[in-house]
Amino acid sequence: MDSKDIATYRVHKPPCKRFATGTCPFGELCGGEHHPYLSPSLVQNREHDYYVDNTPRVACLRCLQLLRKCDKKDHGPGSDDPCSMCRHYGGENCECVISEVTYNDTAWRIMMVRGGAGYVLPAYLLPSEREPRKGDRAKPLVLMLTEKLVLGWRGQTKQQLDEDGDALPDYVRKLPRAYLVPPRPNNADRTMPEWVEESNKNKRKLNDGRASSSYALPATYTTMAPFPTHPPCLRPPRDLNNGEVVASTYYWEIGSWEHRYESGIITRQGQSSERARHLPLLSGDMSLIDKQG
Ligand SMILES: [Zn+2]
Ligand SMILES: [Zn+2]
Ligand SMILES: [Zn+2]
Repeated sequence: MDSKDIATYRVHKPPCKRFATGTCPFGELCGGEHHPYLSPSLVQNREHDYYVDNTPRVACLRCLQLLRKCDKKDHGPGSDDPCSMCRHYGGENCECVISEVTYNDTAWRIMMVRGGAGYVLPAYLLPSEREPRKGDRAKPLVLMLTEKLVLGWRGQTKQQLDEDGDALPDYVRKLPRAYLVPPRPNNADRTMPEWVEESNKNKRKLNDGRASSSYALPATYTTMAPFPTHPPCLRPPRDLNNGEVVASTYYWEIGSWEHRYESGIITRQGQSSERARHLPLLSGDMSLIDKQG
């Protein structure tokens, strides 16, 4: 493999979900992408003391999927008393009900499918200027039918919705992983807006022929706060029984390097190869391949 092949190979990797939650045991051997913007270490190093709201029953599903503020809590439970967003932009068949899903879980899900954008969230657009997308269920930017509304519906005007601003701070959209926690397991798959799924499918099709652009980092990548760095890798010298170190992997979860020798044995930085087999290593059973034994 020359370096060009390696670059192409990396681009094709799907995101590693376990890396994002801090539970991937495979390091560099992992088949999924360990993108720096999915690293759990971003949370410890985040610039702002903020977490995305993780309370259920605070918004309707449509507002969640668009990552918008929602005032459904101020309205009745039925879809005849919709939130202001649904009332003005939900279209004819809108069913506005409060959702069990949280902003955190929805934002996580959206982040995980946006590898093509470098795992950042879509930029905020005013409700009145949001462009309809292909396959978007919320596409018609029209009022709900009056006959579907409770008599005397009250809420915010379109202008007030525009003035109200974004549900998320801008820094969350630019580096979401730093302000999110792993989602509840059963919410992971039902918070995916259909248009994200759809546009990702299209992107994959598009990128089949020109893979190198699909995982291009966003322009903000270089202007953001510096990415936290791990300690330098101190490659251990050749070992009498186990040969040279052939691969070294840094594990953010434990804050340590692991080194793999020609023999297959694995040690953690600062520990000698003779003691390696007694250590609980993240790389798993490979540490047991010890020719001395
Ligand atoms: Zn992984
Ligand atoms: Zn809403
Ligand atoms: Zn709604």
